[in-house]
Amino acid sequence: MPTNSHTLIEELDGSLGPGLVRSGADIPQRNWQDAAGIDPHPPAILVMPRSTEQVARCLEICNRHGAAVVVQGGMTGLAGGAHPQGREVAISLERMSGIEEIDTISGTLTALAGTPLAEVQAAAAEAGFFCGIDLGARGSCTIGGNVSTNAGGNQVLRYGMARRNVLGLEVVLADGRVLTSLNKMLKNNAGYDWTQLFIGSEGTLGIVTRVVLGLHPKPRGVQSALCAFASFEDAITVLRRLDDALPGRLIVFEAMWREYMDVTCGPGGMARPFTDEPELVVLLEAAMGDAEGGADLFEETLGGFLEEGLLVDALIARSENDRARFWSYREAVYEFRRILPKGSHFDISIPLSRLAEAVAMLRTRTAALGPDAAFIVFGHVADSNIHVSVRDPAYDAAMGARFEEMVYGIVAELGGSISAEHGIGVLKRPHLGKSRSAPEIEVMRQIKQTLDPGNILNPGRVLPRGERV
Ligand SMILES: Cc1cc2nc3c(=O)[nH]c(=O)nc-3n(C[C@H](O)[C@H](O)[C@H](O)COP(=O)(O)OP(=O)(O)OC[C@H]3O[C@@H](n4cnc5c(N)ncnc54)[C@H](O)[C@@H]3O)c2cc1C
Repeated sequence: MPTNSHTLIEELDGSLGPGLVRSGADIPQRNWQDAAGIDPHPPAILVMPRSTEQVARCLEICNRHGAAVVVQGGMTGLAGGAHPQGREVAISLERMSGIEEIDTISGTLTALAGTPLAEVQAAAAEAGFFCGIDLGARGSCTIGGNVSTNAGGNQVLRYGMARRNVLGLEVVLADGRVLTSLNKMLKNNAGYDWTQLFIGSEGTLGIVTRVVLGLHPKPRGVQSALCAFASFEDAITVLRRLDDALPGRLIVFEAMWREYMDVTCGPGGMARPFTDEPELVVLLEAAMGDAEGGADLFEETLGGFLEEGLLVDALIARSENDRARFWSYREAVYEFRRILPKGSHFDISIPLSRLAEAVAMLRTRTAALGPDAAFIVFGHVADSNIHVSVRDPAYDAAMGARFEEMVYGIVAELGGSISAEHGIGVLKRPHLGKSRSAPEIEVMRQIKQTLDPGNILNPGRVLPRGERV
């Protein structure tokens, strides 16, 4: 394999300069694995470029040597896309970090791809704006990773996925060519908008080195409530009615089904927020603005739903502490991997009209898997996106395959998607055909072949591995 050759290391080292190329025991463990839960595996070589030009030189060299490359951002990905395989060269964007510009007239922010999302959010806030991208991994994930996975998260219903927030990109192609369109304008129909192709391509088509984001006005007068519903149908009725009653104000609608709340509020866990155990708890937030009466309108609107019987109960945050407590129910999930038995995790979309059916099917079919099988379900339901974990104390690979068959079977029956926001990576690659037709996959292959004919960029992610694609 060319990647273990001293020639490659020497050429990379000579081209990039001292301290940016590592191999063997010098490669830190943080570059051995992403957050997908696959066993750690060291890359053969680690390169940490500081500039676009260095990324370009590195790719040109790897391409010439036919050396497979894995692109690494903050390593928080849940599909295994940044996880090294075989003897890959890892190109980490960690040293390409920083906000380059905030244009307060255009309302845009330009950042290097390795900048942590939290830093982007803080810089936008400091300049009086708001970043439309937010997710639980904000402290570690990078803006380049968010763009490459077309990340979703907590406020998609108002600001869209990463794609809707990106105005411009700089990308390095597999052969080292640099494509730059640091566009700041909402309108630019000068030919194909190639930038869109790279958003959500999971590092298989090019390396994102710079990102221009469109910023939003800061949401003001944010009101938070934790709401108890007797049924998913009631929650969706409230979601639709909120669109009408508080147009454009809703920013968060995060649902947690009763199995999720049972774990969160189980032995040693958090206090139950409601005396009864509702079918569904929803954390909702609305930006009510600075004008007087915003908070009252929010409360009155929810009060109306209570009177109508659409809501079983509701708690409204009176302080930042209350708001943080409400969020901790939603963020408790990050502890689940530690406290629950092993299992399989799914990030699926189901049309809203069939989501209640999907949860009912999960209940029946999980019970049929065995006496100890259990599941939890929660998610960004306003975007049709639920996260499902199916677990069993005796979990093993064969059981994992049965869990996949069950969940993806439901997805297929109800016309959903196997990946709502985390991407395909390596974990979901064998299932791509369940959500994309053969002609669609063939077009993906042709795009990959055109942009990366040597198949050096993230091979085996999204599309099957192979010498040629
Ligand atoms: C606690 C937690 C909460 C999460 N919540 C959400 C959520 O709500 N919504 C959501 O969508 N995701 C979520 N994720 C998943 C993950 O955070 C996102 O996929 C995120 O966008 C990945 O960013 P990253 O910088 O960590 O990328 P990495 O994990 O390093 O890489 C992810 C993929 O992008 C590629 N890549 C990374 N950087 C670049 C680049 N500069 N150019 C080209 N390709 C690149 C990698 O090769 C890989 O295929 C969560 C993860 C965790 C651990």
